[in-house]
Amino acid sequence: MAERPIRVFQLAKELNISHTEILSFLKGQGIDIASHMSPVDVNTQQMVLSEFAKDKEIVDRYRKEQVRKEIHDSRLRQSQVTSKKLELLTLKDQRKLEQKEKEAYEKAQKEKAEKLRREAQEKKRAEAKVKEKKLAEEKEKKILEVEKEPAAESETKTTAQISKVKQPKESVRVSGKKRKLRKIDLSDIESKLGQGKRKQKVVKPEPKTVDVPQSAKDRVKRTLAKIDTKGKKKIYKRGRPNQEKDDAVDSELSIVKISEYASVDELSKLLFVSSSEIIKTCFGLGLMATINQRLEWDVIELIAEEYGVKAEQVTELGEDLYSLENTEEDLKNAENRFPVVTVMGHVDHGKTSLLDYIRATSVAAGESGGITQHIGAYKVVVEQEKTITFLDTPGHEAFTAMRARGAQVTDIVVLVVAADDSVMPQTIEAIDHAKAANVPIIVAINKMDKPGADADRVKRELSDRDVLVEDWGGKVQCVLTSAKSGDGIQNLLNTILLEAEILELKANKTTRAKGTIIDSKLDKGYGPIATLLVQKGTLKVGDPFICNDFSGKVRSIMNDLGERIQAAYPSDAVQVLGFAQVPRVADIFAVVESERDIKRIASDRQRLRREIDHKRIATRTLDSLSAMIKEGAIKNLPLLMKGDADGSIEALSESLL
Ligand code: GDP
Repeated sequence: MAERPIRVFQLAKELNISHTEILSFLKGQGIDIASHMSPVDVNTQQMVLSEFAKDKEIVDRYRKEQVRKEIHDSRLRQSQVTSKKLELLTLKDQRKLEQKEKEAYEKAQKEKAEKLRREAQEKKRAEAKVKEKKLAEEKEKKILEVEKEPAAESETKTTAQISKVKQPKESVRVSGKKRKLRKIDLSDIESKLGQGKRKQKVVKPEPKTVDVPQSAKDRVKRTLAKIDTKGKKKIYKRGRPNQEKDDAVDSELSIVKISEYASVDELSKLLFVSSSEIIKTCFGLGLMATINQRLEWDVIELIAEEYGVKAEQVTELGEDLYSLENTEEDLKNAENRFPVVTVMGHVDHGKTSLLDYIRATSVAAGESGGITQHIGAYKVVVEQEKTITFLDTPGHEAFTAMRARGAQVTDIVVLVVAADDSVMPQTIEAIDHAKAANVPIIVAINKMDKPGADADRVKRELSDRDVLVEDWGGKVQCVLTSAKSGDGIQNLLNTILLEAEILELKANKTTRAKGTIIDSKLDKGYGPIATLLVQKGTLKVGDPFICNDFSGKVRSIMNDLGERIQAAYPSDAVQVLGFAQVPRVADIFAVVESERDIKRIASDRQRLRREIDHKRIATRTLDSLSAMIKEGAIKNLPLLMKGDADGSIEALSESLL
């Protein structure tokens, strides 16, 4: 196969020149070439190559040069990078070196200073010693001079003994081993010689123990103390800031009211001293306290005493707010109010049926009507201006809980006993409660429509429990009822009103409202919501109040029909919104004048309660509790209960008890 011919453009490419250059060169040589695609024979090739050989050489050289340059450049770059790294490294080393040098220099300086200090100390010590020696010698000399004569006078046995002891001692003293011998001498001679003179004479060579002047001793001591490198233990004087005061003013200590668990800071302000002083006093009492630490009452008392003050415990902050007692003004402005009634009795005797019947007729009779709400209480209008508030709380339990917490909300107890049954345990319990609370009872003998109803039996059984109804010569009113037919219910209501009239129930309407929580819950929509029995004053929307340990503002008032009202008066039971937290049954609710004051009181009370709770809980972990139960040290087990309505919690807790 013939070899493929070389074309002009290939030649041009090889020589790295333009094909037109080749074409024009060949044209000049008389060789006619059609285009750059035209093949060229070997001769022509040789011609072209020889013509452009130089150029090729140049091009080749250039290329090579380029490559070489590239290689050189890259090498250079690399070397630059490494040299830079090296440079950095050396810089670091240098710094380290410098640092080391610096440290070494500082160390040397320190050592030097230390050495100087030690030298100075030694010098001082030596000086002190010399001084001491000098002083001792001087004194010795003086004594020797003074004692010369009496020494000559000394005689017989004693002298012999003394000289015997004294001579070797003196020689020994010069040699420096004086102390041992000298001490023996002293005791020996002292026992043998009764005279001061002789004693002095013997003692004279002992410079330190007898004759070194006190000032010199002190100086030596001081110098030695200064030289001593060990830190001397600091002795803190236990502060009795008012020691003199204590003795003098003990009988007339001023009284300062302090709340339990007051902090160091609060205490310092009350006692007019700095908090650091109080902390110091705490240290003195063996208590490590910080400025915000709250102190127990015992400690507060002790500290107050230290400052010449008698601490008096503030039991409850804002206590007056929680009192439902009538003031003079209340008595002056007292107006008639409706009775508040609680229905009690044994289970299934018809309490609920009775209340339902009363309520149904009341709502039906009422003009407004409306959906009945379970708010724990409701108002029944018997006739014009005659109303009764029934408490529909879970019977005995709520009553007991309220009584246990000192709340007295009921004016009259209606005791329901089924005519076909007899006096049962809960009937007796109800009687006991009413009697203990000093609340009058009205007996309702219910289920009179039933065939086996026997009112007389009930009356007799009641008399056994000291409840004497009027028919039986007693004072207790008794009504025969039937919750089924409604017989006697109107009579029951009238009896209640009559009883209320006898009681002459009155309250001041014109003051700020106060009352008791009779039910509460956390509503999904409304938040904390409570039923409140107003016991005095007028409750208005917008009133700031305190309840338990929390402040609040009356956002809205609703009656038992769920209607929004603007104000509530004594003996009204209403639902109130605006609590910060769900209050507990039997909590006292009090409207206050200023919102600001109440916030402070509320937060103080919360803090106090927290501290007390914390103390109570902290001391009783489950382990310690079980140990204490085993020991029989405690009989109470604190339990946390959760429930939807506070009334049920109260009921549950009562039944647990
Ligand atoms: P509570 O447990 O004391 O509240 O008693 P209830 O009101 O729940 O009543 C218990 C049962 O006695 C219910 O089935 C009532 O229907 C029924 N009951 C209540 N009062 C009467 C009444 O006066 N007559 C009759 N025949 N049944 C009554």
